Amino acid sequence: MGKPTGFKEFPRETVPYSDPLERVSGWGEFMVDVPEEHLRTQGARCMDCGVPFCQSATGCPIDNLIPEWNDLVYHGRWREALDRLHKTNNFPEFTGRVCPAPCEGACVLGINEPAVTIKNIECAIVDKGFEEGWIQPEPPVERTGKKVAIIGSGPAGLTAAQQLNRAGHSVVVYERDDRIGGLLTYGIPNMKLDKGTVDRRLDILRAEGVEFVTNAHVGVNKDAQKLRSESDALILACGATRPRDLPIPGRDLEGVHFAMEFLLKNTKSLMDSELEDGSYISAKGKRVIVIGGGDTGTDCIGTSIRHGCTSLVNFELLPKPPAERAPSNPWPEWPVIFRVDYGHQEAEAKFGKDPREFCVLSKRFLDDGNGNVSGIETVRIEWTKDDEGKWQMSEVPGSEEIFEADLVFLAMGFLGPEDTLAEQLGLERDPRSNFKAEYGKYATTTDGVFAAGDCRRGQSLVVWGIAEGRGAARAVDTFLMGRSDLPAPD
Ligand SMILES: Cc1cc2nc3c(=O)[nH]c(=O)nc-3n(C[C@H](O)[C@H](O)[C@H](O)COP(=O)(O)OP(=O)(O)OC[C@H]3O[C@@H](n4cnc5c(N)ncnc54)[C@H](O)[C@@H]3O)c2cc1C
Ligand code: SF4
Repeated sequence: MGKPTGFKEFPRETVPYSDPLERVSGWGEFMVDVPEEHLRTQGARCMDCGVPFCQSATGCPIDNLIPEWNDLVYHGRWREALDRLHKTNNFPEFTGRVCPAPCEGACVLGINEPAVTIKNIECAIVDKGFEEGWIQPEPPVERTGKKVAIIGSGPAGLTAAQQLNRAGHSVVVYERDDRIGGLLTYGIPNMKLDKGTVDRRLDILRAEGVEFVTNAHVGVNKDAQKLRSESDALILACGATRPRDLPIPGRDLEGVHFAMEFLLKNTKSLMDSELEDGSYISAKGKRVIVIGGGDTGTDCIGTSIRHGCTSLVNFELLPKPPAERAPSNPWPEWPVIFRVDYGHQEAEAKFGKDPREFCVLSKRFLDDGNGNVSGIETVRIEWTKDDEGKWQMSEVPGSEEIFEADLVFLAMGFLGPEDTLAEQLGLERDPRSNFKAEYGKYATTTDGVFAAGDCRRGQSLVVWGIAEGRGAARAVDTFLMGRSDLPAPD
């Protein structure tokens, strides 16, 4: 334990974001650099509790050894902190930037004081590791002669690839997009995760011996059965890419888009040409409505503001969450509270108010007379519990309202993986249409085919992709060799 009285002496201070009005003029990451002393002081707030809930099941999904590295940071032993961090997390530079930090919701200090700034400390450790040149490729000493194919290059596929390659297997990752990284590259925008940060890690994987094939759409321009028969094992890490639609009147009007079409095209154009090629959906001078919250909705807000939209509204179906935990949501559960994410902060700075409208149901898209969307007709809803205690939604009479818009982005979640691979490989699905494979075993109903990440558990988080990638790697190693020394979370 770094400083026994640290949690009494020092208040929680997170690494601040840059000024919202300044940062929306560019695509750079919004976290600012802080002096080392700041991080050591924050590390000193960790109490090294007897039972660290932050690294247990309700906290960090990959069981990061949080109190150990907090203590090492407090003592300035950064190199050892990095070694401890890499024992459980292949890519802390991703989670340190984008993880919502369930660990902090479960931090014991959080019972009656603000939690330790765990995510900031994680990010600082790995950033220092890169700065100092401590993070180098670790190719295997010898090869097993076994071949593993991985479909999808998001966090789940990349983690499984690194683990299995380090175990000596020859790994090829197939990706249908023109760049590697899955949603790390073409989902989460640059201001939250700079693409140089993704490429830096990909270079390490390449140097370790992982092979990447882009523009390889398995099941479409590359045969899935053939890939299975040419490999000793196959891992599906192809994400939950089917977006939930909003089939109300006017859905076909020009200007109504799925969020991922907007975000993917924007990042691709930015990476290809700094938006010079015009191959993206521009929100410049447009009134924008984003339907749905979460990370995807927030990223549409932040991207629209950077384009120069003239107004921005964000519809949420659910009520505004409470400012503090409700009695039914006690520690160490994830706190369901009102949060102001970077996009909301930017919209408030730009337009003078938080963009969110709660309890709004969209009834139909309005036509400007030329086939373009001009607004949405809505009604307010209220939520009440029925006799069985289930939440029911009802429309509030007389609350009809029209919101004007030139662009609408649908960010209402995802409905599991696409059908092609399941059909071609004869896979069973679970009731939520994900590939059926038990958590911890990762084996699908087809011999030698495993599934990990969002295609197995549904749309989730980067940290869960890493957790499942590590678990699936261990399962595949055991399948190939009869045993495995690869570590994986429970
Ligand atoms: C806009 C957005 C923002 C998000 N922000 C955050 C965040 O801030 N923090 C967080 O923790 N999580 C966030 N998430 C969730 C997180 O990105 C995902 O949970 C995570 O990326 C899932 O990893 P994965 O490896 O399972 O799949 P993905 O990252 O989805 O990668 C799957 C890859 O498989 C490829 N693929 C699919 N089918 C095929 C095929 N047949 N052949 C070849 N390739 C194929 C896809 O092109 C894709 O590249 C966000 C999600 C979205 C959509
Ligand atoms: S990966 Fe996420 S949950 Fe785990 S320590 Fe880092 S921020 Fe916390």
